[in-house]
Amino acid sequence: MRTEFSTEPATPAEIPGRIARVVEALREAETKAGRSMGETRLQLAVKYQPVEKIRAALDYGARFMGHNIIQQLEDIEPQLRDVQPHWTHVIGHVQSNKAGKALAFANCIETLDSLKLARRLDRLQGERIAAGEASAPFEVYLQVNSSGADSQFGLEPGRAKELAYQVSELGNLKIGGLMTIGAHTDDVSEIAASFACTRDLRDSLAADIPTCTELSMGMTHDLEIAVAEGSTIVRVGTAVFGPRPAA
Ligand SMILES: *Cc1c(COP(=O)(O)O)cnc(C)c1O
Repeated sequence: MRTEFSTEPATPAEIPGRIARVVEALREAETKAGRSMGETRLQLAVKYQPVEKIRAALDYGARFMGHNIIQQLEDIEPQLRDVQPHWTHVIGHVQSNKAGKALAFANCIETLDSLKLARRLDRLQGERIAAGEASAPFEVYLQVNSSGADSQFGLEPGRAKELAYQVSELGNLKIGGLMTIGAHTDDVSEIAASFACTRDLRDSLAADIPTCTELSMGMTHDLEIAVAEGSTIVRVGTAVFGPRPAA
């Protein structure tokens, strides 16, 4: 059974209730899947949301944000410095000219899908460490195109291993897991298969790369399926904020 979430825009005052409902759905899905409650973290996908709504989520206790757009990340993060410590992940495609900004304003990039970008991030993070702006390898997830849709970024599952081993040789990056956007369809078994394929890949990589533990998969319409397939991070926008404002 999938939870029906409101698709009305949420006012800042409604955001705590919306978050609580999503967390409840996650805990139910974990229980149903025989997983421990709390294994799946909720990341709020904040693209195009105004800062008041993001602030309302932080005030309520949300601590984990996902940004698609590096420009928005760069605009918003300085405005939230006084609010609460929180984690930000990049969940949108990173153009190489934005790589430095992503490193400066986020804690993790979930969308690594090329050796070229990996090498650039590794070099830039090395420079940041040398300059005293960072002290540890930067965390990345590999984005897997688990549905095979041409419209999606990410690596074909068959090619992800090769990149993972190449990235694991880069001293200033650390592979924390895999990210995927599931199949874009109403067919539950097809969505589940795309998530299961990503989980199997994570399991096989984790044998050689012990830091590769996270599975970022599941959004508003398929979070229960993702939890059943082992997701550790769901990225939720609409169920919490309502429809996205236009760019
Ligand atoms: C927008 C977005 C989400 C959230 O999607 P909703 O359907 O609004 O929950 C999750 N992941 C990525 C990569 C996104 O771009």
